[in-house]
Amino acid sequence: MKIGFVGLGIMGSAMAANLQKAGYQLAIWNRAPEKCAPLVAGGATQVSSPRAVAESSEVVISMMSNPAAVAAVRDGDNGIIAGLATGAGYIDMSTVDVQTTQLSARLAKTRGALFLEAPVAGSRKPAEDGTLTIMAAGDRLLYDTVLPLFNRMGKKVLFAGEAGSAARMKLANNLVMGGMLVAFCEGMALAAKVGLDLAQFQEVLDAGAMSNPMFRTKGSMIAQQGDFPVAFPLKHMQKDLRLALQLAEDAGLPLFTTATVNELFKKALAAGLGDSDFAAISRVIGG
Ligand code: NAP
Repeated sequence: MKIGFVGLGIMGSAMAANLQKAGYQLAIWNRAPEKCAPLVAGGATQVSSPRAVAESSEVVISMMSNPAAVAAVRDGDNGIIAGLATGAGYIDMSTVDVQTTQLSARLAKTRGALFLEAPVAGSRKPAEDGTLTIMAAGDRLLYDTVLPLFNRMGKKVLFAGEAGSAARMKLANNLVMGGMLVAFCEGMALAAKVGLDLAQFQEVLDAGAMSNPMFRTKGSMIAQQGDFPVAFPLKHMQKDLRLALQLAEDAGLPLFTTATVNELFKKALAAGLGDSDFAAISRVIGG
């Protein structure tokens, strides 16, 4: 099967590399063209536009930063939609809102193509290791066809129903993650302020019901307040919180804690931390 990949950022480059390792022939495009180089070295074909990717592929995958970036590669004369053949597949794995993903589904349909949204949970390392959680929704026929691809990129893959369901699932998931990280940073700030040993504090957390990989991975970086290697850019976490709040508002559900967590992330963005790892939220928490 000929696969196209558009959007070779932190996640897309690692996911495409796993497909390449599995032997799939890739046509690729990225706005910053130099990011194509490692995949080209592995045998991928770099083409001139998202449309050209679609024209060269049976299935096109996109992994973009936000809804505006999805529209930028999807729409217009050089966009993915313009290049989709009848019966082709378009899979958007970006984290976006329900309206964006449902529009992508409708546009694919106008070309006689099939569509899946398939946002992922898991960060840089799971993307590299092929151990993401993939939440897919949309055309079941396309899901059944591309399951072997998903199994190369993820260790848990599920089908959530009609397009929009996976976006909802992903946003609810990330709301929990943002809130957990902020609670953890506040606990660490308090522990530091009152003179506790931070390593011991983390040991206590890790021994109980709150033990989780995120606290373990981010804990020492937060304790040191140093430069964080970027796995999940802070600006993307704020985007997810904003979209989760919008989803809740559309559903008539007040979310008091998430609203506060979002304000903290907005403060971090204003402090210039958008391109840092989201663990840098610790820098706007505490004294
Ligand atoms: P990233 O490293 O910032 O990459 C974003 C990609 O979008 C890049 O290829 C970038 O192109 C492209 N892009 C942005 N604006 C564009 C525009 N206007 N036109 C064309 N291309 C544009 O992001 P990422 O971390 O890979 O995340 C990708 C998606 O996965 C996001 O929706 C994020 O929320 C989600 N996600 C991320 C993680 C994580 O831990 N990183 C985990 C789960 C889900 P350039 O290279 O040219 O800038």
